[in-house]
Amino acid sequence: MKGPKASILLIYTGGTIGMKQDPANGGLVPFDFSLIPEEVPELSKFALRIDHVAFDPLIDSSDIEPSMWIRLAEIIKERYDSYDGFVVLHGTDTMAYSASALSFMLKDLTKPVIFTGSQLPIGVPRTDGKENLISSVEIASATDADGHALVPEVCICFGSLLLRGNRAVKESSEAFSAFTSPNFPPLAEAGINIRYNFSAIRRPSAWDLPLQIGTTLDTRVAVLKLHPGMTPEIVRHFLLGSETRAVIIETYGSGNAPAKEWFTDIVRESSASGKILVNVTQCLKGGVDMDIYANGRVLKEAGVISGLDGTTESTLAKLFVLMGMMPDNEAVKKALSQNLRGEILLS
Ligand code: ASP
Repeated sequence: MKGPKASILLIYTGGTIGMKQDPANGGLVPFDFSLIPEEVPELSKFALRIDHVAFDPLIDSSDIEPSMWIRLAEIIKERYDSYDGFVVLHGTDTMAYSASALSFMLKDLTKPVIFTGSQLPIGVPRTDGKENLISSVEIASATDADGHALVPEVCICFGSLLLRGNRAVKESSEAFSAFTSPNFPPLAEAGINIRYNFSAIRRPSAWDLPLQIGTTLDTRVAVLKLHPGMTPEIVRHFLLGSETRAVIIETYGSGNAPAKEWFTDIVRESSASGKILVNVTQCLKGGVDMDIYANGRVLKEAGVISGLDGTTESTLAKLFVLMGMMPDNEAVKKALSQNLRGEILLS
């Protein structure tokens, strides 16, 4: 149980952050996570109890699977009363997917769950991992005068920015500021001080609500990124596949798709068969408005749901969770259009 000091649980899943050079051959290998106080002695300067738990095996985040999100949710649920905040160390490649998934899987969250990682291993001199980890721990343990968490949300803390997890995307494979949330302002920025954007941070409806976790995920979702030169065979494969219950159609601009008859016929057939079709724009910034152009209106009339200004990562995660909870596709479509965790702006 919690002691007098604030307490943080570090959950190490793998990724670059936990690597160091093998002195024998110079190759990068995961280090023994129980040695984290030696690797990052700065952590001992916080008046915090910091415990850790590591996945076994550790994974490159390209190997992340929904079963691991369930494990993460269960670890957080099991230890929820023992810690003030949680920091998840995760590879950057799929961090936006995992943070999105956890944001929907954790309901009535009153404590911070902060994902972080790094572009350079923690064991190399120019690492960005130490700063990311230290800022994450500080944010995960920050409370107001009433002892409530300053950021009771699932977030990504990276390159001096704190972003809402289900708004974030990885934008750079090499810059230290690897993440952005193009349609939502940062929840905090770490400079000399950590400056919180309080008006953007979500608060729970009550602080004494017990955490609930949703661990039934239905992953029967396909993502079709539109591009010039698509063939009817390929589009049919995505939109009418017997294995898919939902398809995210990544459209052009404000939600536009080809107006070709064969294309709209397939969309109509897919929608009429009961599949859940969601329109998400390929643009980084802005959202879907299917009323602007005739090419968007065709999709709307065929029953395609607007993903509004949501990211593909968060729409996918939202579908997994909603479909896992609801056997009825019409109910999923209704819930998709609601803002559940700050992932979309309703116009
Ligand atoms: N491929 C690595 C991963 O996502 C890259 C990183 O850690 O940033 O696990």
